[in-house]
Amino acid sequence: MFKTQRTKVMIRCNECGEKFTLRGKKGSEGKVETGFKQCLCSNDRYFDIEELP
Ligand SMILES: [Zn+2]
Repeated sequence: MFKTQRTKVMIRCNECGEKFTLRGKKGSEGKVETGFKQCLCSNDRYFDIEELP
């Protein structure tokens, strides 16, 4: 069974502090897919990702 749930996530860059609020889809394993690739500062791995209610 594959169920997706729409959710909002806040992504905060640990390099420059930029914040992004994106809509994502939550997969069955709890991983949120946002399509977010990298920050404006070219950081593509150090992020805080927080789910918004
Ligand atoms: Zn950044």
